[in-house]
Amino acid sequence: MDREKIYVSTKNGYKGDSGSEWRKRLETSLSRLEVDYIDFYNSHSLGWDAFQTGFGAKGGPIDEAQKAKDEGLIRYLAFSTHDSAANIINLINTGAFASMTLQYNILNRANEEAIATAHEKGMGVAIMGTVAGGRLAQPNEDIQKLRAGIAKSSAEIAIRFVLSNPGVSTALSGMNAIEQVEENVVTASRTEPLTPEEKIQVLESLEENKKLADLYCTGCGYCMPCPNGVDIPTNFLYMNYYRVYGLRDYARQQYAMLKEKSLEEMDVPSWADTCVECGECEPKCPQEIPIIKQLKETHSTLS
Ligand code: SF4
Ligand code: SF4
Repeated sequence: MDREKIYVSTKNGYKGDSGSEWRKRLETSLSRLEVDYIDFYNSHSLGWDAFQTGFGAKGGPIDEAQKAKDEGLIRYLAFSTHDSAANIINLINTGAFASMTLQYNILNRANEEAIATAHEKGMGVAIMGTVAGGRLAQPNEDIQKLRAGIAKSSAEIAIRFVLSNPGVSTALSGMNAIEQVEENVVTASRTEPLTPEEKIQVLESLEENKKLADLYCTGCGYCMPCPNGVDIPTNFLYMNYYRVYGLRDYARQQYAMLKEKSLEEMDVPSWADTCVECGECEPKCPQEIPIIKQLKETHSTLS
């Protein structure tokens, strides 16, 4: 096999500030993959806090990564992340990375500014969650409506939507049948993923769906930060998955993951049930959403 034609991408999950520990894991990656170099070496699930105290700390993994690049063991340093859009922009602005992998799909466009910032700086952008963990591929009346007259399946419209963003270099999509591989190859081979008119049609249809919901959180973030750490827009995003798009299992799963991530990081109790009802957020919401009441409903529905 011609090695130059294959791009190898993998992750290093080390979160501490020891360069030698990071290096040990790089050497494990190289030997397990049986390669002399890795094209894209990602710092796994990197957040801004972890960058400052771990990966990016002076004399830490970041210096070891530069050394590994000089030795030809890594071609491009990259990161994958689930952090907030603002923190992703902080990571981009460090100038340390050539590429990133992050969530973005037709239902969750919170990372659009981060993608544009990376694009401006010439970084590669890989998208995970393109088809929302396969949920956008499942037949659902509201999701099906989005593709009316544009695409054969909702998976196709989801991939075309992501690829039509000029900042996106590649879209990842899990596949478990050869037919899905074939369909995705055809979709990704299109010269124009979505025409500007088709994109407007999809976005208008999404807005229409949202307006039908009682809870019309635009994700603007004006209510933030919550002094108790509640991530209000993300909780409401998941409630919208449930209520507006009928993605019930997916919404519950995402909510459980939010709680799990918060517990892992201990000091960030971001899920809806941790609201202490201080009332600080409500006057700041331009949509006049009764946030406290809606958070309660979000928790009882999704937990
Ligand atoms: S009412 Fe709840 S969500 Fe709003 S600021 Fe207070 S603790 Fe945070
Ligand atoms: S201010 Fe209101 S609309 Fe904006 S994110 Fe917060 S709850 Fe949603």
